[in-house]
Amino acid sequence: MSDSFDVIVIGGGPGGYPAAIRAAQNGLTVACIDAWRNRDGSPAFGGTCLNAGCIPSKALLESTELYHRARHEFAAHGLQVAGLAADLATMQQRKANIVRQSTQGILALFTAAGVTPLQGRGRLLAGRQVEFTGHDGAQRLLQARHVVLASGSAPTPLPGVPFDGARIVDSWGALEFSEVPRRLCVIGAGVIGLELGSVWRRLGAETVVLEALDQLLPMADGQAAKEAARHFKRLGLDIRLGAKVTAADAGADGVTLRYTDGNGEHSVGADRVVVAIGRRPYTEGLLGADTGVRLDARGCIEVDEHCHTTAAEVWAVGDCVRGPMLAHKAREEGVAVADRIAGRYAEVNYRTIPGVIYTAPEIAWVGQTEEQLRAAGRTLKTGSFPFAASGRARAMAAPAGFCKIIADAGSDEILGVHVIGPLAGELIAEAVLAMEYSASSEDLQRTIHAHPTLAEALHEAALAVDKRAIDALNR
Ligand code: FAD
Ligand code: NAD
Repeated sequence: MSDSFDVIVIGGGPGGYPAAIRAAQNGLTVACIDAWRNRDGSPAFGGTCLNAGCIPSKALLESTELYHRARHEFAAHGLQVAGLAADLATMQQRKANIVRQSTQGILALFTAAGVTPLQGRGRLLAGRQVEFTGHDGAQRLLQARHVVLASGSAPTPLPGVPFDGARIVDSWGALEFSEVPRRLCVIGAGVIGLELGSVWRRLGAETVVLEALDQLLPMADGQAAKEAARHFKRLGLDIRLGAKVTAADAGADGVTLRYTDGNGEHSVGADRVVVAIGRRPYTEGLLGADTGVRLDARGCIEVDEHCHTTAAEVWAVGDCVRGPMLAHKAREEGVAVADRIAGRYAEVNYRTIPGVIYTAPEIAWVGQTEEQLRAAGRTLKTGSFPFAASGRARAMAAPAGFCKIIADAGSDEILGVHVIGPLAGELIAEAVLAMEYSASSEDLQRTIHAHPTLAEALHEAALAVDKRAIDALNR
């Protein structure tokens, strides 16, 4: 096998593997090095997203939502379910199968595209040499014309609450529980805290979520965050805001977490603790001496708007660089870099990256929130439409939430779209496309939406921007 490639990608997650495939599609010779090993030691491409993030969390969210609905909502459909029980072992096996299928799929895609897969660690050296150390310890020195760094991120540890892999775990540990904890405490009411908190709460865990900030979901639209808080409360998530954890005492009966809030000092007991206070860029052992690649103050690999690092012909994408830590952002950057390397035009529109939280109801958005826009002094018009007024949502027994569209009062250009409700993560795609084309709310108003669909709610929200909604009162 040649030791020289046009492109070497280090990291095979959603940033790295699409970069490798696109580079090969562009006629370049490509190797993709990935170090991921699962708990049983088996190597697997796909990074955090496929092995321990997006995909396994969504598998458990789906199973547990079905269980929750069967318990609490099926009766309203006239469906009586006798002897309903959650079989966690089967649920976990199903999740593992989905993960395996997905990660093995990447190897098949590499073979088809002609990408050389190398499982082990990569280390960039000066002059775009790459030291590859296989899982068996064997080393090879490779040479590349271009290197793409896509080393991802790792959970941020919390001082005083050290991970022990058993009772105090990160999100990966929380996806692997073999028993439903009786008492669960999640530190951080961010995306992971709310998604995984929902999973275990639905299965019966008494779940406390401790959040340092005084506000829930500050990145979401204020009205959507308020609506979400109501639903989390109804589910039984005990979210305590302004709670700063100071220490964890592990004993025979579990873990006692001590925290302070505006009312003083408190403690809460738990059988399992999940620390989900954010992730940090992961670059351990990635860079040798004199590579010219600089890190910024937060430990991110420094890149320009084209994902070019401070070293010639070395690029970096995904969670290890600035910007939101999202799989679709990583993927778009990876593909764009592979096109740029091949001399093609490529651009990532950072203003239209959607965000989705896969709770029930789902929360999704693109663009800016009303709060951000008003703080920036923009003059706005907004339109909302509740799912309670959507025939399809009512038929699905999913009338919670709304679609909200924010447009510039003068030009009518859509500046932000916020959806909380059934399949919000699917609905937001239309809004992303609209904003990508700088659509006005009138453009959406004049687009035909099939009836009866949830997407009609987005259409009606666009009409409501001009107080012309048909199926709801225009206020
Ligand atoms: P990663 O996926 O972390 O991949 C990096 C890869 O590089 C890893 O395989 C790592 O082992 C490898 N690597 C690192 N250093 C080296 C080295 N020196 N040599 C070789 N290989 C190396 N995002 C979403 O958009 N939607 C979601 O629903 C979602 N859910 C999530 C749920 C959880 C529980 C978590 C933890 C994250 C979730 N994310 C989600 C975030 C998403 O997983 C990340 O944004 C995404 O994986 C980033 O992709 P990446 O390729 O940059 O990094
Ligand atoms: P996050 O940034 O979404 O949330 C972390 C939360 O922890 C914040 O609300 C923060 O205020 C809080 N926090 C920080 N320090 C704290 C402390 N000491 N005590 C209590 N609370 C504290 O991070 P996350 O939930 O860990 O997720 C990590 C990354 O993974 C995010 O960037 C996210 O985008 C990504 N992710 C995305 C999805 C999705 O797209 N659906 C799902 C899971 C994870």
